[in-house]
Amino acid sequence: MISGVTSGDRPPFLATRAVHAGNDVDPGTGAIRRPIVAANSYALPEDPSELDWSGTATRLYTRNGGANQGWLEDKLVALEDPSGVSPGGCAAVALASGVAALHAVFFTFLRSGDHVVSSDVTYVATHRLLTELLPARWGITATLVDSSDPDAVRAAIRPETRLVHVETPANPTTRITDVDAVAAVAHEAGALLSVDATFATPVLQRPLERGADLVVHSLTKYVNGHGDAMGGAVLGRRELVERIRADAMVDAGGVISPFNAWLIARGAVTLPMRMRAHCAGAQQVAEYLESRPEVAYVAYPGLASHPQHALATRTLDGGYGGMLAFALDGPPELQNRFVAALRVITSAVSLGHDESLIVHVGAGGEGRAAHFPPEFRRLG
Ligand SMILES: *Cc1c(COP(=O)(O)O)cnc(C)c1O
Repeated sequence: MISGVTSGDRPPFLATRAVHAGNDVDPGTGAIRRPIVAANSYALPEDPSELDWSGTATRLYTRNGGANQGWLEDKLVALEDPSGVSPGGCAAVALASGVAALHAVFFTFLRSGDHVVSSDVTYVATHRLLTELLPARWGITATLVDSSDPDAVRAAIRPETRLVHVETPANPTTRITDVDAVAAVAHEAGALLSVDATFATPVLQRPLERGADLVVHSLTKYVNGHGDAMGGAVLGRRELVERIRADAMVDAGGVISPFNAWLIARGAVTLPMRMRAHCAGAQQVAEYLESRPEVAYVAYPGLASHPQHALATRTLDGGYGGMLAFALDGPPELQNRFVAALRVITSAVSLGHDESLIVHVGAGGEGRAAHFPPEFRRLG
């Protein structure tokens, strides 16, 4: 039975790791699947008086770490760091949502007066955290740049820059950032690089292998894959992840629930084969849309027309993901009519599960839509 990463000459194939890592025979029942351990607390040692109540080394309270959380983390580590050779060892912390994971990174590694360089195309909550909440609450500032241009990232670095944060492929425009190049820029400046790799998943890219210090996933999306549980994770060197666990999980409270951890570990079993299907389907849809005269633009990294197609081909394994952005040539009302006329595809947020979803984000307006690059904003 494979538990986590096996020994041997090479790690088992990705699909095998997705099935077996983090699973084992349950010693209590003999079941070949890990059970859901719903307890809030765990039996204390005979003399608990010396325990660190904020610690994570001893199982004591589910907010300090639960059994299902730990098994899910083992699976995530096996997917993200297949050969177990990350310098400093790779660890994962599973949290309540993708946004809890992003917040955990910012909360743990930034102080008042620090500066962040971030991609100007990110998930909407990341944008609001960096441009509104962190500056107003904690005096942390951010400069947003086109992170597909490593020189733009370098130019935005300041002496007080502690973190570079990028999303690749980025939500919602599918912009691709060169993780190797941006890691070099961040490290020259003594800053950490965190990569939100929700759109890529460890199947398509493992940013830690490319020099990133931290990788963030919304487990809510592809990793769970069934649209029925929220979760997030941060992976990286053990020393960094343990700081997140201690500061942002135990004492800020963003722990994942046992049930969600169990659902996500179950969903992740099929992640490699689901990603292959997502990639194949999205490529076909993207090519079809691009061939239609009614379509103003299609942004999909698998199309030769994508601004970073060559970079995506060089740095993503075996496909370009399941997400694409497009608009019809026409006003917002036309986009809404199109969405309303779809019969199988549902108008709803989220991504990465069994149903195909679509959202008209309104590329002309404020908020999320403003993250579209100018050539997209011009249209629909
Ligand atoms: C959905 C998403 C998040 C946030 O994840 P939640 O689980 O919804 O909190 C973060 N980053 C990206 C790229 C996402 O798509």
